Amino acid sequence: MAITSDVLVVGGGLAGVTAALAAAREGVDVRLVSHKQSTLSQASGLVDALGYVPAVRADGGTAGARDDPASPATDDDPTRTPTAGRTGVRDRPDPEGPLVDPFDAIDRLPAGHPYRLVGADALREGLALFDDVVDGYRGGHTDRNALVPTFGGTVKPTARYPASVAAGLASDDRPMLVVGFRSLTEFDARQVAARLEAAGVPFPVAGVEVAFPAAFRDDARVTRFARSLDLDESIDGTPARRALAAAVEPHLDAVADGAARVGFPAFLGDDEAPAVRADLAGHLGADVFEVPMGPPSLPGLRLADRLYDALDDAGVRYETGVPVVGYEATDEGHVEALLVDRKGTEVPYAADAVVLATGGLVGKGIDSDREGVREPVLGCHVPHPEERYEWYVDDAFGDQPYARFGVHADERLRPLDADGAVQFPNVRVAGATLGGADVAREKSASGVSLATGLAAGRDAAVEVAR
Ligand SMILES: Cc1cc2nc3c(=O)[nH]c(=O)nc-3n(C[C@H](O)[C@H](O)[C@H](O)COP(=O)(O)OP(=O)(O)OC[C@H]3O[C@@H](n4cnc5c(N)ncnc54)[C@H](O)[C@@H]3O)c2cc1C
Repeated sequence: MAITSDVLVVGGGLAGVTAALAAAREGVDVRLVSHKQSTLSQASGLVDALGYVPAVRADGGTAGARDDPASPATDDDPTRTPTAGRTGVRDRPDPEGPLVDPFDAIDRLPAGHPYRLVGADALREGLALFDDVVDGYRGGHTDRNALVPTFGGTVKPTARYPASVAAGLASDDRPMLVVGFRSLTEFDARQVAARLEAAGVPFPVAGVEVAFPAAFRDDARVTRFARSLDLDESIDGTPARRALAAAVEPHLDAVADGAARVGFPAFLGDDEAPAVRADLAGHLGADVFEVPMGPPSLPGLRLADRLYDALDDAGVRYETGVPVVGYEATDEGHVEALLVDRKGTEVPYAADAVVLATGGLVGKGIDSDREGVREPVLGCHVPHPEERYEWYVDDAFGDQPYARFGVHADERLRPLDADGAVQFPNVRVAGATLGGADVAREKSASGVSLATGLAAGRDAAVEVAR
């Protein structure tokens, strides 16, 4: 029997899931297919909407660079602090930010940016959908960005954050202790504290390194720590949570006035995370929070689980581990079916409308080699300079043209060909597959996925229902 649906979504990341949920809310029949795990499992679990607006240089490019301490480079960029002085700025104007209100700044983004295509209301509605289907997140009470300390010691403007990081917000002036572990070298608590202090945060902060009470292998993954705390494993006769608190407790006075809140790398349990935090807080007599970390990211994995639960609740059928490898279309570009590789057999999945949310350069939703840059599923046009040397600038942390590579679309997110005409009328593009935004520097990745996922899924469903 042919596999059919009204709307077929390709890609199981934040954009694809949002598109599928938005389409299902319109009452149509939705199916989602995805190849590999999405970037949610690597991401911090923070939902950034817009933290910075890159400034426009005299030559038309955008600004912001590693030598600018206020530049939105990477979260673990060792040269960067969020509010430090402006020494070392070269010939570029500063980016605008950190932004208080992301919605307010959308009009100042360059034309063609995904937010300019779908508008601030789509971001608002995408965030509202997220708030509806994902519990355990905060930030929905206000339009303003929260400032969340990261494992790089920066303070990141973000729109939604897991409840587990709430006690760590930089707007809170209570004394903070950051705890690291000898066996978790990628999280340097003393450095996090030093950078936060250098950034001028409005609270005393200190970092300490302790030994995790259980002896794990030196290269133990965060999931091993989390499991020990989830199970409250006995460590030499003492439950793990109590033993961890006992290791930290002697250091509470390392911070002036005594720590009122204690931050740990984001491994405080998985299934039992709220109970782990509550127990630690009880033992320590201080609030406990997680500092989001790089891959593998437990907050990211927890978020992915919640989003897939939401697909179940909405009645969306989904399959993972199945790449789309081709398509069938009419001469007018109406895509009739996608060809899905199921154990070596190409199976046609017919649909009236398609949402392409296959990710960007990181997830290979956009691919590049010596010949050029392409979108591999449908062959959507990806504008880029012919000369490869124009894809990059020398300054590795500067304004990189390749960061904005992706499919260009009209206001309904239909892909545009080289002449600016709609290439596939029943296809919508969402998330990192779209070009025109440097989401890493803007701190806008999840917001762009939510806004465009919502707009693409809903528009596809409305057209199908018509
Ligand atoms: C290390 C890291 C850290 C991040 N940190 C943050 C952060 O702190 N805050 C924030 O807001 N955002 C962050 N992000 C960004 C965020 O996680 C997403 O990358 C972004 O929202 C884009 O999501 P997406 O759904 O468009 O793409 P992706 O998450 O890349 O999902 C694309 C999906 O499409 C699938 N796919 C690709 N090709 C095919 C095919 N041919 N057939 C079927 N399926 C296919 C992939 O397997 C994947 O599941 C981070 C990303 C990374 C990589």
